Amino acid sequence: GPRVGVLALQGDFREHAHVLSRLGAHVSLVRRPEELDAIDGLVIPGGESTVMDKLSRAYGLAEPLKARIADGMPVYGTCAGLIMLADTVLDAIAGQESLGGLDVVVRRNAFGSQNQSFETDLEVPALGDAPVHAVFIRGPVVESVGPAATALATIPDGRVVAVEQGDLLGTSFHPEINGEYRFHAYFLRKVRDRIADRASA
Ligand code: GLN
Repeated sequence: GPRVGVLALQGDFREHAHVLSRLGAHVSLVRRPEELDAIDGLVIPGGESTVMDKLSRAYGLAEPLKARIADGMPVYGTCAGLIMLADTVLDAIAGQESLGGLDVVVRRNAFGSQNQSFETDLEVPALGDAPVHAVFIRGPVVESVGPAATALATIPDGRVVAVEQGDLLGTSFHPEINGEYRFHAYFLRKVRDRIADRASA
């Protein structure tokens, strides 16, 4: 299968690794810059974006990651991972940076505190007719979608909670924790397509 890394600095990287393995990917955990050389795609898990940001810079991963994103590597971010991929982050802590790549503005903790976590069914036309059961845990909302990005799903009040832009994908919620594999499968198709494109170039 395609070689897919999961950023393993912090957060629920094991759940993502499990889903990706089940879908046939060759999965590795990424903590060091040189480990980026061995992957064709990357998942950035949920967790805490402020911590992931600090650790990715401290370990020298942030700059090589930005370079791979600019080079077109497929990346899927859930929750904190979506925050890491957003070009603009509202309600960030002082000094917090993101990797960027997705032409969106996100707002951290937009649905309130941990005990205001909720679950809902979403329509995601890109993934087919069956609704997606989405688990929100102190997730961000996408406050605006720039011209380069596309909304994939909204909650009933109209707010955007899933986006894509070329080979980048982000969700405010956590499909890795409730057996919803279709986002990961969608992401793996991007990884496979990119490998095929490169081989034929
Ligand atoms: N609130 C976290 C943050 O801002 C995200 C929560 C999550 O990933 N479940 O990074």
